[in-house]
Amino acid sequence: MKKRTKTGEITKMSGKNNAQKRKLRVALAGNPNTGKTSLFNALTGGHQHVGNYPGVTVERRDGERITEKVHFTFNDLPGTYSLNAWSPEERIAQDELLQRPPDVVITVVNAAEMRRGLVLLAQIMQIGVKCVLCLNMSDEAEEKGLEIDIVQMRTLLGMPVVKTVGHRGKGIKQLEEAIICAVDCSFSDTKLVLGERMETALSEIITTLPASSDQQWIATRLLIGEKTEEKAHYDLPENAIKNANKARKKLEEITGEDIQLFVTQRYFGFANGLLKEVVTQKRSEKEVRKLSDQIDKIVVNRMLGLPIFGLIMYLIFWLTFSLGEAPMGWIEAGFELLRNWGNATLQDGPLKGLFIDGIIGGVGGVMVFLPNILLLFLGLSLLEDSGYLARAAFLVDSTFHKFGLHGKSFIPMMTGFGCTIPGIMATRILENDRDRLTTMMVLPLMSCGARFPIWMLLVPALFPPAWQAPMLWLIYVSGAVLALILAKILRLSVFKGEDAPFVMELPPYRVPTLRAVISRMIERSGLYIQKAGTVILAVSIIMWAGTNYPQHIEEIPQAQIEQLSDEELVLFQEQQASDALAFSYAGRIGRAMDPVFKPLGFDWKINTALLGSFAAKEVFVAQMGIVNAMGEVDESSDSLRESLARNYSPLVGISLILFLLIATPCMATVAVTRRESGSWKWAALQFFGLTFIAYFLSLLVFQIGSIIL
Ligand code: GDP
Ligand code: MG
Repeated sequence: MKKRTKTGEITKMSGKNNAQKRKLRVALAGNPNTGKTSLFNALTGGHQHVGNYPGVTVERRDGERITEKVHFTFNDLPGTYSLNAWSPEERIAQDELLQRPPDVVITVVNAAEMRRGLVLLAQIMQIGVKCVLCLNMSDEAEEKGLEIDIVQMRTLLGMPVVKTVGHRGKGIKQLEEAIICAVDCSFSDTKLVLGERMETALSEIITTLPASSDQQWIATRLLIGEKTEEKAHYDLPENAIKNANKARKKLEEITGEDIQLFVTQRYFGFANGLLKEVVTQKRSEKEVRKLSDQIDKIVVNRMLGLPIFGLIMYLIFWLTFSLGEAPMGWIEAGFELLRNWGNATLQDGPLKGLFIDGIIGGVGGVMVFLPNILLLFLGLSLLEDSGYLARAAFLVDSTFHKFGLHGKSFIPMMTGFGCTIPGIMATRILENDRDRLTTMMVLPLMSCGARFPIWMLLVPALFPPAWQAPMLWLIYVSGAVLALILAKILRLSVFKGEDAPFVMELPPYRVPTLRAVISRMIERSGLYIQKAGTVILAVSIIMWAGTNYPQHIEEIPQAQIEQLSDEELVLFQEQQASDALAFSYAGRIGRAMDPVFKPLGFDWKINTALLGSFAAKEVFVAQMGIVNAMGEVDESSDSLRESLARNYSPLVGISLILFLLIATPCMATVAVTRRESGSWKWAALQFFGLTFIAYFLSLLVFQIGSIIL
């Protein structure tokens, strides 16, 4: 098999040759939001999620690139500012680099803003691995009018240096060559300049260390005094630690500074020194930059910022309705054709029922909302890629703090609008467990993509057109506000403690690339269709069977039926259909739930749909579709929305929406919460806590509403 890589060259993918190929394990390290994942995708032809804010990559990812001679394995590490940080995601990067050193580490640095990236580079150099320095975002550096002398940089650092533009795949070939060169070209040792005092102290400690390539790094850790962990890890001799303690005391005496501060300053000193040698400001910044600053004056404005954010979200919801309507009609028409075909060709019997009511009613009912889902994600990914979401995080930061949430929590919570599961995983960017658990607990309140079809079904069915976009907006806002209130309650009770301040770097605005946006759309629709074709299909079949069996057979003499007028006949048939439904397992279970859910305004059909939605939220739509299809008498009757409009009042709608928004996170959420929190306790608290709140609020709304209306 031949495969064309992103750079256009044709590479062999057959297994035979790979055996003789040279193998290189390469890690991509760097600060958050420097374009590591974009480069990883360009290198491996992958489609990993990139986003214009820190914290997108929280798990390790591997990918391959196979060329004529070399078989590369790339590892996209989560962003990290240093090798001795403590958030779980940063630990992943550290452990990977320290415990399983790859053949080559590419340190990805934002060329337009290199300082902090170079500090990380200094630490990576200390580990003693082969290094490539990748100056990504070189287009932005140029826009800023920065000229970077990479030949000089290469000499000063003693490693290959490459300029790239990751999201456009520029410089990938050179990067590939640089990786090979890092191993093959003979560089005199990499040159890390940390100043005489520090270097003397380090070499004193090193004399007592066993030989290893990462001596410098170990010596630095010892100098700072993190002995216990290092000792256990490297099995260090006792005198190494004594020696380090001596060196530390001496340094602190000479400099009068805290050792930690001193070492940090040495790293920054190295970065500053290097920058002085290799960077010149050629032209003044381009207009683009100034424009970006001007936009920020308005968008991050204390008074205007939040209203603008609200307005933008509103616009997205409005667009999903108005632009989604037409393609939705096409898909509906497609399923209608399929239904007619089934009616005409299939013989009466269970198979026909399964096909028409179960599959078309259930899966079809869910598939219809694909265009809306796509539009929603289009909107969100445009916000994300342009850099606007990072501004929004900045805006809500102070509000979040008032509610006891860490400012960084905004990122997992925004991710939760897509799907709760990656949202919960993204809480790994939070350093302390209190912040992490609080965020995890309230995350299901962010209305996820799977609930979107439910809103798309219920809102237009039960509310007048002018209300639709505002209702949708209100649903999302209510979820978010409730999440904040709950977080506050949790922080005052279960998770008491101080919160840490958070400084977020604002990335510059970027024009989103068509490729990234489109590839995300394709990925999203793929996932949606896949889910409809697997989980939803399976549950729909179960639901259909439960709603169809046992069958209700009533012997009514033909003669008696013939006496009925047309009108009476329809009524009679409707009664029969509804009796049959009520007789089925689903009907019985749904009725058994009545005492609990009737006070909320739900009927047995809703009850069964609620039950099914625990498997996956979309099943709610599927089951309503199935019940509706089976309750129908003539072939050409209403769409699901119409029949809902006939059967339920807006008040039931509000109570139901509230319940679905808050209650019972889906099965997968429970499992992920348990895994990420490490205990069933938290998963149970989340599940029962949210369900209880949902029940209480829906009850309140429905009962008060019934009295007033
Ligand atoms: P990561 O957090 O380091 O993995 O960074 P991502 O790959 O997610 O990229 C962060 C953002 O920077 C995304 O919006 C990318 O489209 C954008 N980006 C990546 N590389 C470049 C580049 O070379 N130039 C510019 N202007 N933007 C880039
Ligand atoms: Mg990433």
